[in-house]
Amino acid sequence: MNTIAIIILAAILFDYTLNFLADYLNVSKIRNELPEAFEGIYDPDRYRKSQQYLKANTRFGWVAATFNVAVMLVFWFAKGFPLLDEWVRSLGSNPILTGLVYMAVLVSLKGLLSIPFSVYATFVIEERFGFNQTTWKTWVADLAKGILLAVLLGTPLLAGILAFFEHAGENAWWYCWIAITLYMLGVQFIAPTWIMPLFNKFTPLEDGELRSAILSYASSIEFPIENVFVMDGSRRSSKSNAFFTGFGKHRRIVLFDTLIKRHTTAELLAVLAHEMGHYKKKHILLTMILGILQMGIMLYLLSIFISYQGLFDAFFMPQKSVYGGLIFFAMLYSPIDFLMGIFMQMLSRKNETAADRFSAETTRDPQSMEAALKKLSVHNLTNLMPHPLYVFLNYSHPPVLQRISDLRQVSALS
Ligand SMILES: [Zn+2]
Repeated sequence: MNTIAIIILAAILFDYTLNFLADYLNVSKIRNELPEAFEGIYDPDRYRKSQQYLKANTRFGWVAATFNVAVMLVFWFAKGFPLLDEWVRSLGSNPILTGLVYMAVLVSLKGLLSIPFSVYATFVIEERFGFNQTTWKTWVADLAKGILLAVLLGTPLLAGILAFFEHAGENAWWYCWIAITLYMLGVQFIAPTWIMPLFNKFTPLEDGELRSAILSYASSIEFPIENVFVMDGSRRSSKSNAFFTGFGKHRRIVLFDTLIKRHTTAELLAVLAHEMGHYKKKHILLTMILGILQMGIMLYLLSIFISYQGLFDAFFMPQKSVYGGLIFFAMLYSPIDFLMGIFMQMLSRKNETAADRFSAETTRDPQSMEAALKKLSVHNLTNLMPHPLYVFLNYSHPPVLQRISDLRQVSALS
């Protein structure tokens, strides 16, 4: 084993152990007493059920993670990468097509192995806790559409990246950077009208109290929106959500039907005010810019390592190739990716607190935001007492009790 192989192996094992430890601490924190803020809201049976849900998901996560690491190590040390390389080269095509086939085989293998886990998560765990509303028919159709989209959208992008690194020499990394950025923006642009309707139905919210409340709030904070839509989230799960799509003046609000069903107008408004807060405070734009910068750094490092012999030796590859370099570099990069991920989660938690505050201040109704958070947590069987290490590694939002106490501070100040 060379240094590169040792670094990659250590990174895989470190990641696995750290997540195992965080999961273990998270589950050991389970206590019977209900936190004060949830007294009278969470009935004891449902609270116990939320703890069983946490345990079931944690156990499932361990099995999946162990399986994935084991498969990866076996494939690596049984010389799966060079064997596959030999086969795709024997097809005798040009380097770009050869690279596409190589990657397609790897992605398909990974996808195939993940199917049983996805089935178990949806039809066993989510089913047992009363969240699943997906039928087999919808599940299979989703899978087929997902594959088709991945092929249609992924192939040209990947072919472009392979071609740049094959032919553009030292300029390849920033050609790729520009191309990927434009491509992602393009996909986001067409997503609301072309991609999302493939999976869900979007109907304009009918005139009434909710619609006029949303529109008048939006204009009170000078936030232009094109329309408000209802999405049939209940087709798949009873869990609920709200989000925005589109750019500039074409922004649309999307509310899950499951969210509308369970919340009062004031609570829905508080949730939407939070979402608009992300825009008003430029969180979306900032996160996007940071993502683009990160990609630039990664592509630059990729351009340095892509033809480094040690990278290929680590995976027993006798011949260098652009596609091999891409895959192996991604693994070498994973420790940096891990650190950047932690930084992005920290930033995200900070932004969530700011958006909660924005909602509380502009609606002058922190109580409704608190009520909405409580209802959501009880319905979604949210873990009320996560371990700080688990939060540090995995949470994009602060734990709900933290959010509630921050909201209460806003109401105490106003
Ligand atoms: Zn948010």
